[in-house]
Amino acid sequence: CGIVGITGSDRSVEILLNGLKSLEYRGYDSAGIYVNDQAGHDYLVKRPGRISNLESALTPDVHGLAGIGHTRWATHGEPSEANAHPQYSTDERFYLVHNGVIENYKQLKEEYLSDVDFKSQTDTEVIVQLVDKFVVEYEMDTKAALVKVLRLISDDSAYAFVLIDKQEPDTLFVAKNKSPLLVGLADGYNMVGSDAFSMIKETNQFMEIDDHELVIVKPDNVAIQDFDGDEKNRKPFTVDMDA
Ligand code: GLU
Repeated sequence: CGIVGITGSDRSVEILLNGLKSLEYRGYDSAGIYVNDQAGHDYLVKRPGRISNLESALTPDVHGLAGIGHTRWATHGEPSEANAHPQYSTDERFYLVHNGVIENYKQLKEEYLSDVDFKSQTDTEVIVQLVDKFVVEYEMDTKAALVKVLRLISDDSAYAFVLIDKQEPDTLFVAKNKSPLLVGLADGYNMVGSDAFSMIKETNQFMEIDDHELVIVKPDNVAIQDFDGDEKNRKPFTVDMDA
């Protein structure tokens, strides 16, 4: 299973697909991408099975400047199109890819989301619906809502998350706990990925993410903070590898 994200390139679809192909070795049962062009168009394409199934569904009209991609190794819910990621909120505002397991997803669902009509069996959908609930009903901004959700996730859970809010379409909201995830810094655009290989065609400059941090990735900027909102400095490092 694996994750890629990109913001700031009109080659987003190609970059996501290349990233997912390089993550194939980690094993998966389905794959999907979400992209938006920041001009009001967005596309969600998910397919069970091989990445080539996803690739053949990516017609030329599927395009974007930012997006997220996922290969899934099912833990909650059978491999299917509905359970493939990205998972999204009912109002289709928030899109989320997740590797790992949210151990307390049932409690979160019962406590906060009894009124929500779920379209998947995944633990992941609970997280994206919860962010939406805190933003729309509690009127929190997306960053604050995500931090609130991250604090509610039990610490025995493992996750690597990349979230897109359609209303801030050039921004990737990124967090991890016990699952690998790395930022890639390219020229005029930025990425996230489960490993350096998934981004090495685009860049050899990376930034580590620690557990319990929130990382805000924009085309020209990466900001890291802890859950209390304190900014963190992080030095990029270079990886010498052949693309
Ligand atoms: N637990 C999530 C699911 O079953 C993510 C699985 C993964 O890591 O790919 O959908």
